[in-house]
Amino acid sequence: MEIKNKVVVVTGSASGIGKAMAMDFAKQGAHVVITDIKQEAIDAVVTEIKNLGGSALGIVADVSKEPDTEKLFQEAFDWQNALDVAILNAGILRDGLLVKVDKETKKIKGKMGIDQWQAVINVNLTGVFLSGREAAVQMVNSGKGGIIIPISSVAMHGNPGQSNYSAAKAGVVALTKLWAHELKNYKIRVAAIAPGFIATDMVMKDMKPEALEKWKSLIPIGRLGTPGEIAHTARFIVENDLITGVVIEASGGIKI
Ligand code: NAP
Repeated sequence: MEIKNKVVVVTGSASGIGKAMAMDFAKQGAHVVITDIKQEAIDAVVTEIKNLGGSALGIVADVSKEPDTEKLFQEAFDWQNALDVAILNAGILRDGLLVKVDKETKKIKGKMGIDQWQAVINVNLTGVFLSGREAAVQMVNSGKGGIIIPISSVAMHGNPGQSNYSAAKAGVVALTKLWAHELKNYKIRVAAIAPGFIATDMVMKDMKPEALEKWKSLIPIGRLGTPGEIAHTARFIVENDLITGVVIEASGGIKI
């Protein structure tokens, strides 16, 4: 699909990878919908795109809430009477061990709370389900189809300390593959991206320098990825009509 003049919705696009993807598509001439949970942060990205001569609309929506997501995709469609690409990127982390064991006594001293589990499932899995469903509603109704790009993670393979996150990201891969089949008759392609370690606030904000060095040593290319490299991967999926039903690991080769 050619990107110019297409309507692209990117959830969680007020920061990090989502912002990088939104900026990249805007620079290619797309009409971009910036959607996230904080109005001020959304407005800043919309202004940045407009200042560069691009086309952007801001919509506040919590992807874990059904009415928000229905409204988001209806408003996104109504803006230009089209919806061509939906990137399901909004996500959160609430890391913790399944059970925390005291080193000396070998007794349990903590466990992953149900709130901690549910918060991540609500945004990273239910949010992808709801926004993928609502994108499909608009794409089928338009009769023109489109492309859905869910954002998974290499944690889909099972990363210690991330029961909630890994389960959600593996679920996103299952949805990607089954949606590619379910939606194929409506000219909808579905392909996911599983980033590795990408230098955004999500990973950098609580990272100690020694932990950062350790992670770098485990990445075959010797460095973290950049949000721009994930944006490039999204652009490749949109432009290449052969790509559907797959997950592209953009990770510098890290194996979890
Ligand atoms: P980020 O900078 O924290 O961006 C995520 C955005 O989603 C934030 O703006 C966040 O808003 C927003 N958000 C949170 N909850 C939301 C909700 N309920 N509805 C709508 N928006 C919501 O993180 P990132 O690193 O760019 O991550 C983007 C995606 O890539 C996520 O799905 C993440 O799991 C995935 N990923 C990231 C990495 C990495 O290394 N960075 C690796 C693999 C996969 P607030 O900031 O206000 O919470």
